[in-house]
Amino acid sequence: MSRKTVDRERQTLTRFVEVYCREHHHRNGNGLCEECGDLLDYARKRLERCPHDPKPKCKDCETHCYKPEYRARIKEVMRFSGMHFVKRGRMDWLIKYFL
Ligand code: SF4
Ligand SMILES: [Zn+2]
Repeated sequence: MSRKTVDRERQTLTRFVEVYCREHHHRNGNGLCEECGDLLDYARKRLERCPHDPKPKCKDCETHCYKPEYRARIKEVMRFSGMHFVKRGRMDWLIKYFL
C-alpha cells in the first residue's frame, strides 16, 4: 500500500475519532480522551499492518483484522462522525473510509 494511501487514511481516521470524542466526551482542543486515544492508536496500527495492496475499504474486507470490540467501536465512530460531516456539508471527509 502506498505511503500516500496510508497517510490519507490515517488523517481520515484521526478526524473522525476527534469529532466523536469532542461530541461525546467534551474534549475540546486538549487531545483525545483515553478511550478514544486507545481506539485511534489501535486503528492506526491495523492500517499500518494491513496486508492488502490495494487496500479495500475495511467494511468490504474479507479478512477483517479488527478485534470484535474495536470493530464495533470504530463502526460507531464512523457512523456518528459520518453523519456529522454530512450535516455540515463536509463531503470531502466521506470519500473513502466507512468501516
Ligand atoms: S480490516 Fe482489512 S482492509 Fe482494513 S486494515 Fe484490516 S486487513 Fe486492512
Ligand atoms: Zn473520547
